[in-house]
Amino acid sequence: LDLALKKAKQLKQPLAFYYQGDDKAQYRELLIINGLPNGLKYNQLYMVFQPKLDIESGQCQQVEALIRWHHEGLGPISPNEFIPLAEQTGMIDLLSAWVLDAVVAQQAKWREKGIYVKVALNLSSTDLDNPNLANDVASKLAKYLVPAECIMIEITESALMVSLEQTIVTLNQLRDIGVKIAIDDFGTGHSSLAYLRFLPVDEVKIDKAFLDEFETTLAAKQIVKTSIELAKSLGFEVTVEGVESKSVLDTLRTYGVDTIQGDYFAKPATAQEFEHIYPQLNHLSA
Ligand code: C2E
Ligand code: MG
Ligand code: MG
Ligand code: MG
Repeated sequence: LDLALKKAKQLKQPLAFYYQGDDKAQYRELLIINGLPNGLKYNQLYMVFQPKLDIESGQCQQVEALIRWHHEGLGPISPNEFIPLAEQTGMIDLLSAWVLDAVVAQQAKWREKGIYVKVALNLSSTDLDNPNLANDVASKLAKYLVPAECIMIEITESALMVSLEQTIVTLNQLRDIGVKIAIDDFGTGHSSLAYLRFLPVDEVKIDKAFLDEFETTLAAKQIVKTSIELAKSLGFEVTVEGVESKSVLDTLRTYGVDTIQGDYFAKPATAQEFEHIYPQLNHLSA
């Protein structure tokens, strides 16, 4: 299977794989890999949007776009499962292009309806290694007449380090056209804030893993607190993701966080659902 995956990656196109073993996990992987092109073609994939709460204004000014896939045979599949497979097989290019189009098209629709939220989309390390990325983003924005300030790009801390030189070039190009950059899942990789300071980065998103232990482990709490303080003092915007309760939110507020994202404020919603909840989100007090 490893060989076949490598081959598919070289060819930059999906291969049909056949597998006759009895390893259920590998068989599932094959179904996912083989199913992705059709999934895209037959609209099995769609985006959901998770609102972010702006602490100062108490409003929702941003959302994060998250991909969803309802596989015809397997049912819903988590992006945590199929994104890594798309990366390994080289299909991530196709998928990210689809996400970019879907997000910018959605932005155009919302702006027409008077909904002005910034949308952050997730990209992979291979996307950032692509010297054409900034051009692709610029032409997509032009196609839908959406200003660059309306979108933001999230990349994980580990993706940042994969091919640092090209990534920095790409990030600078994106920033030059007006697209802001967030470092996702901060705290799980090997970079430090002192180092990020030299990179074209606007926002730091503290990883959900720390929040899972926030109320049980003093260390997790201290890491979050210190990271927020240091990130703020270095000039980054700071988001904490995975906030599930009011008590956590209240504590984070005292740490000086800018925005929070989490099920306590709002769960990921389809575009249509978001349009319904959006007016109420903006009337909540933080
Ligand atoms: P991420 O970018 O760090 O996104 C945050 C994840 O945490 C999302 O999971 C979100 O639903 C979840 N989350 C946020 N707040 C809470 C909370 O309060 N409680 C709990 N239990 N979960 C919360 P999701 O949507 O399953 O996405 C998982 C990961 O898959 C993302 O992590 C991102 O790395 C990747 N991903 C999602 N969509 C895309 C995409 O369009 N492109 C790429 N390349 N990766 C994507
Ligand atoms: Mg993200
Ligand atoms: Mg994250
Ligand atoms: Mg994550």
